[in-house]
Amino acid sequence: MAHFIVLLGPPGAGKGTQAATICEALEIPHISSGELFREHLAKQTELGKLADGYIRCGQLVPDEITVRMVGDRLKQPDCANGALLDGFPRTIPQAQALDDLLARMGAQVEMVISLEVPPEILVERLSGRWSCPNCGRVYHEKNNPPQRSGVCDRDGTLLIQRLDDRPETVWQRIEVYLSRTQPLVEYYRQKGILVNVDGARSIEEVRQSILSILAGVR
Ligand code: ADP
Ligand code: ADP
Repeated sequence: MAHFIVLLGPPGAGKGTQAATICEALEIPHISSGELFREHLAKQTELGKLADGYIRCGQLVPDEITVRMVGDRLKQPDCANGALLDGFPRTIPQAQALDDLLARMGAQVEMVISLEVPPEILVERLSGRWSCPNCGRVYHEKNNPPQRSGVCDRDGTLLIQRLDDRPETVWQRIEVYLSRTQPLVEYYRQKGILVNVDGARSIEEVRQSILSILAGVR
C-alpha cells in the first residue's frame, strides 16, 4: 500500500529535521514545498520569482500556484509508493486539493503527524537555524551543530541562514501558521488520521516517538 504521510507543524517545529527518519522507515521520497520553492528560486524560474515576494515577507504563496507545483511533483514515478509531504498542505483549500490529487491516484492521506511546539521555542530554533543550500540538511548553531562550524557534514557546502528566518519575518510566519494552517489540525482530526507529537523535546526523543508511531503503519 502507498504511504502518503503529512508532516504538519509551525515553522521551526522540526519537520525538515525529522523528515529523513520517516522517509527512510517507509521508503518514500521527501516532498518539501518550501524546498521546491527555493529550488525554483535558485533556477530563477517564473514560479520561483513569483513565490519569492511572498516568502520574503513570511506570507503564503497563493494556493493555486502551490497546489500546481506539488501536484506536478506527486506525478513523478518515485511517488508511486507514497511520499512524505512536509510543509504542504498549509491551508484548508490545499488540504482539499491534496485529497483530490491523491484520489485521482487511487490513494489517500494515511496519517498526519502534527509536531507541536510553543511559539517561544520556535523563535529560538529559527534564529539559530543554518541550512545547506545544496542538500537541504538543517542544523542549529546550539542544538544540532555541524561537525565543522559553518560547513555541511554531508557534502561540505558552506551553510547559509535563510532570509525569512529573521526575527520580524519569523513572527509573521508564526501568525500565518496560527490563522491559516492550525485549522488543518481539526480538519485531519475529524478524519481520524491525526497523530500529535510533542515536538518541544530533544531531536532524539521526537525521533523515537515518530519511529514508534510508524511501527503501526508498516
Ligand atoms: P518552514 O519549514 O520554516 O515553515 P518552509 O521551508 O516550509 O518553512 O516554507 C518557507 C516559505 O515557503 C513559507 O513561509 C511560505 O512563504 C512558502 N511556502 C512553503 N510551503 C507553502 C505552502 N504549502 N503554501 C504556501 N506557501 C508555502
Ligand atoms: P521546520 O522544517 O519545521 O521549519 P527544522 O527541522 O528546520 O524545522 O528545525 C528548525 C531548527 O530547529 C533547526 O535549526 C533544527 O536544527 C532545530 N531543531 C529541530 N528539531 C529540534 C529539537 N527537537 N530540539 C532542538 N532543536 C531542534
